[in-house]
Amino acid sequence: MPASRNILVLYTGGTIGMQQSAEGLMPASGFASRLREQQDQQPQLQLQLPDWQFRELLPPIDSANMNQANWLAIAEAIRAGVEQDGCDGVLVLHGTDTLAYSAAALSFLLLGLDVPVLLTGAMLPAGAPGSDAWSNLFGAMQTLHTGVEPGVHLYFSGQLMHGARASKRGTATLDAFAVQPRQRHGQRAPNIPAALDYRQPRRPVSLAVLPLYPGIQAAQVRAMLTSDVQGLLLECYGSGTGPADDAELLAALKQAHERGVVLAAISQCPQGHVEFGIYAAGSKLATTGLVSGGGMTREAALGKLFSLLGTGLSQKEVEHWFALDLCGERAD
Ligand code: ASP
Repeated sequence: MPASRNILVLYTGGTIGMQQSAEGLMPASGFASRLREQQDQQPQLQLQLPDWQFRELLPPIDSANMNQANWLAIAEAIRAGVEQDGCDGVLVLHGTDTLAYSAAALSFLLLGLDVPVLLTGAMLPAGAPGSDAWSNLFGAMQTLHTGVEPGVHLYFSGQLMHGARASKRGTATLDAFAVQPRQRHGQRAPNIPAALDYRQPRRPVSLAVLPLYPGIQAAQVRAMLTSDVQGLLLECYGSGTGPADDAELLAALKQAHERGVVLAAISQCPQGHVEFGIYAAGSKLATTGLVSGGGMTREAALGKLFSLLGTGLSQKEVEHWFALDLCGERAD
């Protein structure tokens, strides 16, 4: 794995660079000079870090405000850094609340990009007592300098994780991210078609996520699906089951599918995966047109739906590629 020598540091906001305000922590600009100053104070780091150029997406945000347009802007800035500025690695600084969602979305938006992209952030702002900001940031830079496979990764608390498999697991400890072991369920795509390449233009799409729960009513599902939703991510029980005895609920899903909505299923179990055929309650649910997301996390399934629907692929094409493993997202 080639070492990255000249990286783009892309600052999007997040706790890592936040400042205290009367309302609580707020995103702040001007992080480049703080980073340079911190690096200069640690001369022992010099040889272990790549050269870097800094870019800030304005305005910096609390990642709780992250949306699809932001993802497209991040992907665009990464592409410009690599193709126009010759960067051979990218480090995205991002708030932790939606870090795993962005890492997953970028894993699909950047398919085919030939350089490593790491995302990191911090649980405590740079400069705060006990902060993990500089250790995460310099650790990620050092990791890039040592050499990382092309693709999207999340770096946090000394751990390098698959960009489409990690989730935020905690709010009180510094090692807030983890990859849960899940079984692979789904074939690897033989190659990445041009239609899914990072150079394809994409646009925002309307997606919904619905966790099943005992007592869910068909009318609620129908209400969700009567908006302009193009894709629904259904978080099923266990191995892909749901209230399949509720004919009205099944009809609501089926009718949406017939109208062209992509229906995708994942398991609510942190270490689970979808295998509809194990239970009749799963098989029946699948007759509505649901496509299995195997062992994908919510973050991965949502990012993948966005990336596939965002390119304007047909319902059939989206279902085809959703069911295949594109970058290791469907688990071990
Ligand atoms: N709310 C912050 C954010 O996601 C949390 C953090 O960065 O740790 O931007």
